[in-house]
Amino acid sequence: MLKRVLSGMQPTGRLHLGHYLGVLKNYVKLQSEYDCYFMAANWHSLTAFYTNYKEAHQYISPLISDWLAAGLDPEKSTIFVQSDVPFHTELSLLLSMYTPVSWLERNPTYKEKQENIDKDIDSYGFLGYPVLQAADIFLYKGELVPIGEDQLPHLELSREIARRFNHINKLEGKNAIIEPKPLLSENPKVSGTDGRKMSKSYGNTLSLSEDENDLRDKMKKMKTDTGRVKRTDVGNPDNCPVFTYYNYFLPARKMEIDSQCRSAGIGCIDCKNIISDQIVKETEPFRESRKKNIENPDLIKSILEAGAKKARKTAGETIANLKDSIGMNSDYRILI
Ligand code: SF4
Repeated sequence: MLKRVLSGMQPTGRLHLGHYLGVLKNYVKLQSEYDCYFMAANWHSLTAFYTNYKEAHQYISPLISDWLAAGLDPEKSTIFVQSDVPFHTELSLLLSMYTPVSWLERNPTYKEKQENIDKDIDSYGFLGYPVLQAADIFLYKGELVPIGEDQLPHLELSREIARRFNHINKLEGKNAIIEPKPLLSENPKVSGTDGRKMSKSYGNTLSLSEDENDLRDKMKKMKTDTGRVKRTDVGNPDNCPVFTYYNYFLPARKMEIDSQCRSAGIGCIDCKNIISDQIVKETEPFRESRKKNIENPDLIKSILEAGAKKARKTAGETIANLKDSIGMNSDYRILI
């Protein structure tokens, strides 16, 4: 039997090249090797969108369209929306009774996110989101979770919650919650147009569904090696965010561009045009496919309905067993 993988993305806006290179390409690869459950994590998006959730909800369908356009196949993977499976909130509440608050407060991304997100997210739900994440994984008996190294502390918290729950309830073997393991994936820090990490909150993204002209315009304005002022100056590709795109999109020409940059044999405009052509070429099939998906909401709806049905069955069995294991079953005899 294939090992099971669980992963999700928050529907919070249009996907960009960072998502494509860091997550989506990996998803597509994983679906041929594992039994994958991929969810639109809309309960998680509520932590930041609680004042305007309607906006986040509108991103669900485009998110699924992007996944399909990138190559996710509903015949191979179970694709669903988190809130269509009510057991996520139920297990999250159950696990929250077993999770010390101090574990959540020491979560390294808790403070980091609070500082970086330009919204008031100081809520009980935000503090407890790692518990919801643990529930997401445990419900599907997810053995593996595709993450980058920076997310290891998060997964360790899920593993600690599993251990504590199993220990307190004396669960062993197939009755115990499986401690998920990391499936470490390359998680490249893709540069945005200003040279910082590509992120919607920095306004420096190149969206996957970007119109070709807009994409070229943004590339033209993209930051390069700041030490290279004039065309005749030699450049240093190691200090140039544009050059990092050659790693992902045109590795065959990396060496050549590297030496031409260092000898002022190529100008930044030409260098950007070459890589822009390649990005446009590689993302063109994506854009076409995405457009078709967006124009076919019934397709998205049917994929999500089928995915939710399957996910509810798997998750329903898990939560029933876990509740039973702590004595929360349908035996209501009063012991007096
Ligand atoms: S030539 Fe290319 S690699 Fe060199 S600084 Fe300009 S954009 Fe960057």
